[in-house]
Amino acid sequence: MNTPTANHLPLNEIVREALSNQHFHMVYQPQFSVRNGELLGFEALIRCRSPRFGLVSPDLFIPYAESSGDIIALGRWITRQSLLDLQNLRRQSGLPLYMSLNISPAQFQGGDVFESVMKCALDFNLPPSAIKLELTETALIQNPELIARSFKAFQSEGMQIWLDDFGTGFASLNLLREFKIDGLKIDKSFIDGLHTNEEDFTICSAIIAMAQRLGLTIVAEGVETEAQMQILGQLGCDSLQGYLLGKPTPAEECHAYWAPVLTQRQSA
Ligand code: C2E
Ligand code: CA
Ligand code: CA
Repeated sequence: MNTPTANHLPLNEIVREALSNQHFHMVYQPQFSVRNGELLGFEALIRCRSPRFGLVSPDLFIPYAESSGDIIALGRWITRQSLLDLQNLRRQSGLPLYMSLNISPAQFQGGDVFESVMKCALDFNLPPSAIKLELTETALIQNPELIARSFKAFQSEGMQIWLDDFGTGFASLNLLREFKIDGLKIDKSFIDGLHTNEEDFTICSAIIAMAQRLGLTIVAEGVETEAQMQILGQLGCDSLQGYLLGKPTPAEECHAYWAPVLTQRQSA
């Protein structure tokens, strides 16, 4: 089946059907430490398999769910499923893994995102440090006072907040001054040309140097080549995520990512 585009998809029907018939599932993409190569945790990414339209990209249905308000119910489901899976992944691996959740602005405005995340952390016996929240610049700009209050609530519990797609919006630097952010995810568009394009290299070095001075954790996303990985290591990036190291995978297959770490430990 060809990958559908937004124009000819009845996203309202797809999302409604998917919510009531469980067409959604979660996949998890690993993040590794640059320092020692160890698996640190996963980013939770949603998938929708519509029986009528095939696999529909989150780039299509998330914006729809945000505008329709369905993101509130969907966000609660994502949080619960991802943190339940995290509990199992931590048990199976014996590693202190974290889960990084993508949070939409609407979840702050209309929802009870703090309560629902905290309840799952409690239900699944997870320390708050095992939960990271990823927000884009747009999310921060939409309702700054409300967002700042929510950040305080999360951070006072020990959860970290990361700025996603860093560098692609209009207000990145100002936001770093106005909000207490714990980490930055450098957008894939800058990583793409890191080893071939001087401007991208300069921008990435500058972002990393600045983030280090500000004491922020730096995650590079969309790492696809060895050359990019090497440069990011030299520049002082903290963790890496990308197809080179692991694609988003259902929870049942995530053991593939910690097995090498365990083997190395056992043979040490
Ligand atoms: P994002 O948060 O920036 O997620 C990163 C996207 O890049 C993911 O696409 C991931 O599969 C893809 N990716 C990761 N490494 C590589 C790589 O090396 N090469 C390439 N070409 N791509 C890579 P995905 O899963 O299609 O998600 C797209 C967007 O949909 C996400 O962008 C995020 O904005 C949104 N999204 C996905 N899951 C959720 C969710 O659970 N909640 C919310 N609110 N949004 C979500
Ligand atoms: Ca993300
Ligand atoms: Ca991103």
